[in-house]
Amino acid sequence: MHSRINNFLTIDVEEWFQTVMFDNTGIKAVAGSDLEKNISDIIALLDKYGTKATFFVVGSVAERHPSAVSQILKNGHEIASHGYAHRLVYKMTPQEFEKDLDLSLGILKEVTGGEVLGYRACTWSITRDTPWALDTLKERGLRYDSSIYPVNFYPFGRVKRFPYKIKDGLFEIPPSVFEAFGCHLPFGGGTFLRFLPLNFIKEKITRLNREGFPAVVYFHSWEAVDETPPDIRMSAWKRFIQYKNVGQVLGRVELLLKEFSFVPMRAFLNGQRF
Ligand SMILES: [Zn+2]
Repeated sequence: MHSRINNFLTIDVEEWFQTVMFDNTGIKAVAGSDLEKNISDIIALLDKYGTKATFFVVGSVAERHPSAVSQILKNGHEIASHGYAHRLVYKMTPQEFEKDLDLSLGILKEVTGGEVLGYRACTWSITRDTPWALDTLKERGLRYDSSIYPVNFYPFGRVKRFPYKIKDGLFEIPPSVFEAFGCHLPFGGGTFLRFLPLNFIKEKITRLNREGFPAVVYFHSWEAVDETPPDIRMSAWKRFIQYKNVGQVLGRVELLLKEFSFVPMRAFLNGQRF
């Protein structure tokens, strides 16, 4: 193990056809869902390394697959909210956002029988135009948010790259980035976790840990497949973004689990020192 810093491992639990790649195409779940199998595979991998993670679960998915959520809980992982319908926050009105969040929290609290502490917006979609979203999260009793990708070309723009207090009582725990050419660039999740060289990713995590900061790594439940993607017509670009190296995700996560220590995000609330 490279260091004793506890990094954060997070998994967004959603169907492959719920991503922004498909939202405007009207594609329905024609190919069925591998979600429960994907969750079992992820949990088995984490168990092998005795690691606990945070699962940001879409409310509508929890409704359709309660056994997947119970399995996550039973194995001691953290359940947090990924909204109800996986809609972009900046495309909702404040009222629609409240409704979406309340639905999601209602379902997750019922399943968990306890508190839900964290939230992650669909596709990092809390922006400078939606400051009300953070107020709503705080009002609903959430303790941390992980929706703001501090990368120059993401909706919020370049902001702090380490966990920070974004409001009294609400922390922002952003996905990790590295600095180069005066920019913040992504490396530790989703498409980037799939196509950047693994040694490059490890080096960035090691560097963050040497600076005394945790890395935030993320992937999606639909990335935990070992087979070719569904046969759906889409542009080459979309296919690349959604499916490039998709069969390698669990293998790559395993190599990170071998070298680094990971914990759920809720641990931040106990040990936070920023
Ligand atoms: Zn998502």
